[in-house]
Amino acid sequence: MNGDGGAFVVVGASLAGLRAVEAARSDGYQGRIVLVGAEAHLPYDRPPLSKNYLLAGAEPDFLSTETELREVLDVDLRLSSTATSLNADRRTVTVDGAEIPYGKLLIATGATPRRLPQLAPLGGVHELRTLDDAQRVRKEISAGCRVAVIGAGFIGAETASSAKHLGADVVLLEAADAPLVRALGESVGSAASALHERNGVRLVLSARVEGLVGEDAVRGVRLADGEVIPADVVVIGIGVAPAAAWLRGSGVDLHPRDGGIQCDALLRTSVPDVYAAGDVVHWPNAIMDSAMRLENWTNAAEMGRHAARNALWPETAVPYSTVPYFWSDWYGQRLQFVGTADADHVEFVSGDPEADKWVALYRDAGRLVGAAALNERRRIMKYRRMISERLTWEEALTRFPPDSPGRTPSASTS
Ligand code: FAD
Ligand code: NAP
Repeated sequence: MNGDGGAFVVVGASLAGLRAVEAARSDGYQGRIVLVGAEAHLPYDRPPLSKNYLLAGAEPDFLSTETELREVLDVDLRLSSTATSLNADRRTVTVDGAEIPYGKLLIATGATPRRLPQLAPLGGVHELRTLDDAQRVRKEISAGCRVAVIGAGFIGAETASSAKHLGADVVLLEAADAPLVRALGESVGSAASALHERNGVRLVLSARVEGLVGEDAVRGVRLADGEVIPADVVVIGIGVAPAAAWLRGSGVDLHPRDGGIQCDALLRTSVPDVYAAGDVVHWPNAIMDSAMRLENWTNAAEMGRHAARNALWPETAVPYSTVPYFWSDWYGQRLQFVGTADADHVEFVSGDPEADKWVALYRDAGRLVGAAALNERRRIMKYRRMISERLTWEEALTRFPPDSPGRTPSASTS
């Protein structure tokens, strides 16, 4: 496709959408590109928002400049512009009331924070997904202030760590009886979360948040057992939902459980010439033998590029598959994960789960399917390669023998 088939329209001007337009140009697409984004900002990097941006008062990490986008890549950039519907018959997306025709459409609208309906809208209560959210949180956290973080997932852990570093008094409230179970499994989630108490942050498990205390500004979080956690600032990180509600009724198949976009292995949606990438996508990931939706940086970047190539050059389209990878930084430590935590057995093969350096491996049906590491940066990518080579558990252990003195025989489950 070289400019004669209608514009390449990308909805969602963040990581996946940006990588899509960059790949289109770097691979020689010469047609018109329109990039539509709901936020007012140029594409920026989200990972620093809960880390350095909160901590160091750093500038936002923009992923591109206006000159690069408009002049070098020749992109028709529409910021502060929200797509509200897709008309598959007319091959248009409606953006702020006006229809934009597409030759190929790529949807990269990501995800938005889940909310707690029982919480009144008080001052000092924030979510953390966007640069605007992070600016608000940053303004309010300072030494000596009391911060309650609801949800001990990645947002919660990183925000707690940053707030603690800034000298705040931090309490982390988690609904489950162990944190990060879906992302890391129970034993590894618990080992990682032990970092909170070791760094002076109280972690309350099985917390039932009932409401907030305060009139205009928040003064505390009330739990179902009657305890009130005093707080000047509350940050909510209880997960995200795919931002695809605007596609309801368009003919694009949405996932029955979370409403994300259902794609095939080529990242095609159910509507011809409409593709999708990033946090919003469910797709069959052949290398992991399962259908999944990922919420991590590496996937959004890789998938954005891949979907653009498949959309613009369908005759050479290839299935997208990846061994998932993410990292998370807490209290100056680096947690990394590859693969999946959906496993029948998890084992710490190096270091001590009660210390600040360890590796845990995940096995499913005899295959190495995942690895988690705390402060073992060089090792984790070796496991990523082993998972992509589909090594059996025994082959993986032979290639990289366990060195944990406390290693237990393969019997436990996550
Ligand atoms: P998003 O980044 O969510 O972008 C989607 C964009 O689409 C948004 O700008 C949104 O406004 C726009 N949009 C939505 N609907 C519409 C519409 N209808 N019309 C127009 N525009 C629309 N991952 C890691 O692997 N490691 C980390 O350390 C890490 N840290 C993170 C820290 C924070 C604070 C956050 C929030 C995320 C972090 N992530 C991390 C996750 C990572 O940033 C995401 O996986 C990634 O941003 C997903 O990119 P995306 O382009 O798919 O979606
Ligand atoms: P998350 O990682 O899904 O964690 C949310 C946590 O909140 C889960 O442990 C969840 O428990 C818990 N929770 C749900 N409802 C709750 C309630 N009512 N009260 C207390 N706890 C509750 O989501 P997140 O931390 O909000 O992060 C949002 C997104 O940003 C995700 O896509 C995440 O991947 C991304 N992100 C990634 C990183 C990283 O990779 N380093 C860093 C920051 C953000 P259940 O699981 O039981 O529901």
